[in-house]
Amino acid sequence: MSGEEVIDSEKLTVEARQDYEQFLAHFEDSGCRCFLNPPCSWCTHSGNPRNLREDDTAWLSGVAGV
Ligand SMILES: [Zn+2]
Repeated sequence: MSGEEVIDSEKLTVEARQDYEQFLAHFEDSGCRCFLNPPCSWCTHSGNPRNLREDDTAWLSGVAGV
């Protein structure tokens, strides 16, 4: 588990949190596979913390990471 990808799921909307939990359950250990077939399902998963951070609508506050 990479520390830099940890986000505060308490601040996510219900939908975004479900995406995030699904990502953790099914994708966290697989990591990026763009070297095989970019963009990979890890990078494009809506629950990927990288994507959540850039999606303001995923956050209760409306502002990513705050
Ligand atoms: Zn990737």
